[in-house]
Amino acid sequence: MDGVTKPVHVLLIEDSPEEAELIQVMLAQSRREVLQVHHVPRLADGLARLGSHPTDVVLLDFSLPDSSGLVSFERARKIAPHVPIVILTNLDDEEMALAAVREGAQDYLVKRQVDNELLLRSIRYAISRMNVERAMWESEERYALAVNGANDGIWDWNLTAGSAYFSPRWKTMLGFREDEIGSSIEEWFSRVHADDSAGLRKALDAHLAGAQPHFEHEHRIVGKNKGPIWVLARGLAVRHASGQPTRMAGSLTDITARKRAEEQLLHDALFDALTQLPNRTLFLDHLGLAMEQSRRRKASSVALLFIDLDRFKNINDSLGHTVGDELLVELARRLTQFLRPGDTVARLGGDEFAILLNDIHGPEDATRVAERVQELLREKLVLGGREVFTSASIGVALSNAGYRTPEEILRDADTAMYRAKAAGRGCYQVFDQTMHRSVVALLKLETELRQAVEKNQFLMHYQPIVSLEDKRIVGFEGLVRWLHPEHGLVSPTQFIAVAEETGLIVPIGWWVLKQACQHAREWQELVPADPPLYVSVNVSGKVVMQPDMYERVVEILERSGLPPTSLRLEITENVIMDHGEMALEKLAQFHRLGVQFSVDDFGTGYSSLSYLQRFSYDTLKIDRSFISGMDGKDDASAIVKTIVTLANMLNIGVVAEGVETAKQLERLREIGCSHAQGFWFSRPVDRAATQAMLLQAPVW
Ligand code: C2E
Ligand code: MG
Ligand code: MG
Repeated sequence: MDGVTKPVHVLLIEDSPEEAELIQVMLAQSRREVLQVHHVPRLADGLARLGSHPTDVVLLDFSLPDSSGLVSFERARKIAPHVPIVILTNLDDEEMALAAVREGAQDYLVKRQVDNELLLRSIRYAISRMNVERAMWESEERYALAVNGANDGIWDWNLTAGSAYFSPRWKTMLGFREDEIGSSIEEWFSRVHADDSAGLRKALDAHLAGAQPHFEHEHRIVGKNKGPIWVLARGLAVRHASGQPTRMAGSLTDITARKRAEEQLLHDALFDALTQLPNRTLFLDHLGLAMEQSRRRKASSVALLFIDLDRFKNINDSLGHTVGDELLVELARRLTQFLRPGDTVARLGGDEFAILLNDIHGPEDATRVAERVQELLREKLVLGGREVFTSASIGVALSNAGYRTPEEILRDADTAMYRAKAAGRGCYQVFDQTMHRSVVALLKLETELRQAVEKNQFLMHYQPIVSLEDKRIVGFEGLVRWLHPEHGLVSPTQFIAVAEETGLIVPIGWWVLKQACQHAREWQELVPADPPLYVSVNVSGKVVMQPDMYERVVEILERSGLPPTSLRLEITENVIMDHGEMALEKLAQFHRLGVQFSVDDFGTGYSSLSYLQRFSYDTLKIDRSFISGMDGKDDASAIVKTIVTLANMLNIGVVAEGVETAKQLERLREIGCSHAQGFWFSRPVDRAATQAMLLQAPVW
């Protein structure tokens, strides 16, 4: 009871005034609590009072004028189920009072046998027992609410009987109606996914045997009319004093959504989002596994094909990224379809793909696949209503070379791919150790080239360009040389490619242009001519793409005093093809200034006649390979003739490059080629020799 401060409300339902009086007198004896007694003579009054006023305990006489016995008790309890009722009875009614206690009355007292002690104790017990009952009832109600309302299913397994209780939510979670699930534990276990069954059993056993303090296990359950759902089961065993488990209960949570998210995350981490192919991480994993297996099998090896699309950037720039993406997806599809089931194709990034071939018996197996892949990629594609052609450069590496890690073999396939690209696009190359050595050499070259730029270890050579009509020098091509501290003069063929790759070509390019313009201005002063001597300078695509290219060229021209019309910029066909519209626009700006343009190495690149027509070049420099081919069969002469005719038609000048023999010169004259350059006239020479050549007016 709640101590003294809070009064205890007693409702006394008693028709006999004497009895009521007596009880009230006894109650007044209480020292421990304040009792507020409300007395009514009839049941009806009592019920009314119960319904309207707080009451802590009812003292109910069993023989009332308007009701008696069990009926009175039932009626009172109905109105106030949680108010304790103590029955007051006469000696002869004791049987009935006992029945009432069985029905839930807290106690009964036989009138006249009661003293105040007994009465007060009975009241106290009645109240405190009712409090305990209420707490229990509330907790049970709370539990029931939790079971029904929770998102989790509840299960309760009687280990001794093998029966189980499954909450309604447990059943609906699996798609079942209440009456569709019986009370055998097998209702659960028999529906567990075959792959998870053993794991669940093991987790249960571990907990039941006491090896694990908690039972917790994730598994799939095959529900009704739906695919497997992922659940997390948790539980705890109740044990006998001996430690023997007798019962186990717990919850079942639907974690399907979480599992899906996890799977998605895992998928995203290992697969390329665009093509759905494995990404680099997963590929390296497969590769490592395959290498391991092939080491054990010994008889066969694995091969790696490193595929890089040619001019993918070009497609992206000219047709847009959406088309570029479509292309990648389509190529991924082709590659996947083509491969054997055990092989893996992955997208390593950008336009790079890789293929892992398992179980091959020699390099021919791999190169055959490389050829097939190239055919596959060359096949016409229609993207966004346009026909698109593409090709790929492929590097091949074989795992029998004593590789330790998958990264090593990937690196070498990559190196071989670069070789293939350098050899001309649409080729493949098989890696060999000399490539590795050259990669190391390349790295050294790169470091030294950086130093060369810092220390300015370059100088200019010039080679005359001659008019075939009057044998006069009309200009010079500037050709850069590297004065290496150990190796002496190094040819640009040895370092321009590296300079391009590293971007060092940009500072080198500006230096060359400055020198060439200055020197050309000096020649013009030395040997005035009409039109004045010009200088032809090779320009890299990297330089063309510099945002301030125009301003810098203008500045260099102004500083040197060289008229813009005396400068020619040599660019290869590929620069235009690779940079497309942007390059065209830029070059048109120079054209307006009077600067002229030559297409260098004409005939070797991917020319587009439409570019030739749209962008008015001033000169085509016919590649050396055609000129050297003129000595033998007539084939090359025909090509040169065609180029010259084409140039004449388009009103473009021509320079034949690499003239080495009198015979070539004669042929060129016959064909009607107007200008030439080559060792026959002069090798490229330094600045002083260039001046001397001009002053001597050589005779060829
Ligand atoms: P290119 O622009 O086609 O230059 C002509 C190359 O052919 C020069 O080689 C020249 O020495 C060589 N040559 C000239 N006549 C003959 C001949 O009769 N027979 C033979 N076999 N070869 C001849 P070089 O100087 O080694 O330059 C090679 C390439 O390096 C150039 O080819 C050009 O593409 C590039 N290059 C040179 N200087 C520069 C530069 O300053 N900037 C850039 N970006 N590239 C440069
Ligand atoms: Mg050139
Ligand atoms: Mg050339």
